[in-house]
Amino acid sequence: MQTEKMYDCIIAGGGLAGLSLAIQLADAGKSVLLIEKKTYPYHKVCGEYLSMENKDFLLRLGIDLSRMNLPQIRNFMMSSVTGKSLKEKLDLGGIGISRFTLDHLMYQLALNKGVEVMQETQVLSYARSSDSFTVQANKGNFHSRILVASFGKLAPGNFNKADKLQENWVGIKYHIRIDGPDDQIALHTFIGGYCGISKIEDEKYCLCYLVKADVLKQCGNSIPTLEQTILMRNPHLREIFSQAEFLFDKPKVISNITFGKHKPVLDGVFYVGDAAGTIAPLSGNGMSMALRASSLLAPALIQYLDGQISLPQLEEAYLNDWNRHFQSRIHTGNWLQYWFCQSWLTGFFISFMRLSASLRRNVIRRTHGEMYSCAPMIIALHFYL
Ligand SMILES: Cc1cc2nc3c(=O)[nH]c(=O)nc-3n(C[C@H](O)[C@H](O)[C@H](O)COP(=O)(O)OP(=O)(O)OC[C@H]3O[C@@H](n4cnc5c(N)ncnc54)[C@H](O)[C@@H]3O)c2cc1C
Repeated sequence: MQTEKMYDCIIAGGGLAGLSLAIQLADAGKSVLLIEKKTYPYHKVCGEYLSMENKDFLLRLGIDLSRMNLPQIRNFMMSSVTGKSLKEKLDLGGIGISRFTLDHLMYQLALNKGVEVMQETQVLSYARSSDSFTVQANKGNFHSRILVASFGKLAPGNFNKADKLQENWVGIKYHIRIDGPDDQIALHTFIGGYCGISKIEDEKYCLCYLVKADVLKQCGNSIPTLEQTILMRNPHLREIFSQAEFLFDKPKVISNITFGKHKPVLDGVFYVGDAAGTIAPLSGNGMSMALRASSLLAPALIQYLDGQISLPQLEEAYLNDWNRHFQSRIHTGNWLQYWFCQSWLTGFFISFMRLSASLRRNVIRRTHGEMYSCAPMIIALHFYL
């Protein structure tokens, strides 16, 4: 399929970052084509803990989470590879909602707002001319004034990739039923990874873990062997795995996850969500950062499309805002990931954290943002111009 239509914006990838940006641009009357390689609704490898900081923003988009009777998660628990545990309250807390449900809700909202969505279509690469982009996809070429990359962790074709090769990880997810707490997110460590569990909608729990690709390889790339020989050494995980009813035929798996640095703007393309910098799941907040990045970019993009600011001004403002909001959170997430994955250190880490409630709260605060709903970049731009 070929189309000569010139869209205001093409968005490559329809996860939380892409969908939320599309909704905001459509609300402002802009023409948006969102290209998504899968068909909604579908399951995604994610721990499905959504920080409360997004509540007002989602409400502004048109999604009222408070009416959905979702589990409210207010407590955090972690355990070392041998089962030594630690608990703490989450100041802001979060809710449990599956990506199957949340992404689908946002997709339907995007359609209602007039976003054109092409499903089952894979973006392959792009070409830039002086004032527009041509996006090459497996179903044809499409044109736009602005191109936003929101394809998550794996960049296609000539899109910006992580700075250098980092350690490879594999993410694995199940939905399960188990007699567990309603209001707790737990992170259980094991040699070469960690596993999160928390409640989502319909009395189900999301059980999701991240493991170094090398460790899975040592288990003959067999997930059952990995779970039996490595994960179940942690007594908390042994109990969960032996008591749970597993609701999928087989686990959802994503491989080739790395945590390298990316660039939020390159060659005139704007990157949001994981495409701008994959977030270590330990910070528990990749979904928030994906949503928040779209809230930073949307108002300035609208100003650019309305001719109020130039492209260099837009690029600089987004870059500054992105660094201000996310750099330290990404840094803390990566730092925690390092500590959690030194299996011999996890017991020491927990003993150390047990010593001081203020230290624990400080670490949790550093991985969470604050509530937001308005567009902070409009304010920032007023100072900038
Ligand atoms: C194991 C694990 C657990 C996690 N747990 C949590 C958690 O509990 N809480 C939390 O807040 N965050 C968590 N995260 C992080 C969170 O999942 C991500 O940060 C978040 O999904 C990023 O959103 P996104 O929109 O940038 O990307 P995604 O949600 O990955 O969306 C990208 C979209 O682009 C599409 N796509 C990809 N390539 C193409 C292409 N070439 N053409 C067209 N479409 C394409 C994909 O199909 C997908 O729909 C976790 C991550 C992992 C790996």
